[in-house]
Amino acid sequence: MFSRIIGQERAKKFLKQAMAKDKMPHAYLFTGIPGIGKTTMAVALAMALNCREPKGGDSCGRCACCRQILGGNSPDFVVIEPQGQFIKIEQVRELNRSLGFAPMGNCRVSVVRRAEAMTDEAANSFLKTLEEPPPGNIFVLSTTEPYDLLPTIVSRCQRVAFGPIPVKDMSNWFVKEMDKDEETAGILANISGGSLGRAIEISKTDYLDRRQEWLLRVLRLPGMPKDKVMELAVECATGEGKRGFKSPGYLGSPIMEMLFTWKTWYRDLMLLSAGGPPDQIINGDFSHKLKKMAETTIMKNLIESVLIINRAEIDLKRNRNVSLVMEHTILTLSRLAGRGRA
Ligand SMILES: [Zn+2]
Repeated sequence: MFSRIIGQERAKKFLKQAMAKDKMPHAYLFTGIPGIGKTTMAVALAMALNCREPKGGDSCGRCACCRQILGGNSPDFVVIEPQGQFIKIEQVRELNRSLGFAPMGNCRVSVVRRAEAMTDEAANSFLKTLEEPPPGNIFVLSTTEPYDLLPTIVSRCQRVAFGPIPVKDMSNWFVKEMDKDEETAGILANISGGSLGRAIEISKTDYLDRRQEWLLRVLRLPGMPKDKVMELAVECATGEGKRGFKSPGYLGSPIMEMLFTWKTWYRDLMLLSAGGPPDQIINGDFSHKLKKMAETTIMKNLIESVLIINRAEIDLKRNRNVSLVMEHTILTLSRLAGRGRA
């Protein structure tokens, strides 16, 4: 099962070594952004510890123990996560009650997902459990924000850092496991910021289709007459909200997704203008147009364009008037795009 996790080689090695030496700590703290395999690693760990026919430090994936854990119905694999915004004291109490029974197999693994969401009460109760852990139990706390946890909890855990998944690994995975073509796989891997979970979420929406349309809008900006620019601003302000999109958008709303997409465009232009490696551009399907445009753009204007989009995102989050924000943003972007090197 470890072998099925993409990347995270250091974390895997670290856990396998501790298992081989039979020196497992009572608690681990898995840190890193969402969607990079922290919970999957906890599953793999629970399977490896309980498997009846382990091989080379990894589980078989087929025995009764493995199947129970994989199927989510093993008493030796417990997950608690926020109910709503928080992990409440009742949830920790229930976990503590279940710890009163010995594990069915070798070892029980209890996972606390988004551990930073524990209320103060819940955290203090959990701390007591960590101070006197019942035998045969391993705790895995996972968090994106280790600094939001009680230092007394952190100090009782062995920390394991999870890194973003490399673009190449992720795009290969999309080609192999999800049957995506290479170009699509590359775009998904690139826009996900190293989070496979996020990339999968995006792949289930119609983001990729909309993305093309949004990119064509910024693409048309250089040299566009002012009345057309105004038309585009109105289209962006009213259109995105009204359309019957299949998904609510992974960034919260189509207009935010559009702004995010535009930023990837300017980021690519910056990369190319600075002489960066062309294989690292996000919008690979537009590489020809990007390269051509990068020849005439000025870095200062590109940076300013990104700042303008950031500003728009903040303004929209603060519920400023959408039409005014979009008008200002698009007019400024068009002005910045119009000033070439000439
Ligand atoms: Zn097994």
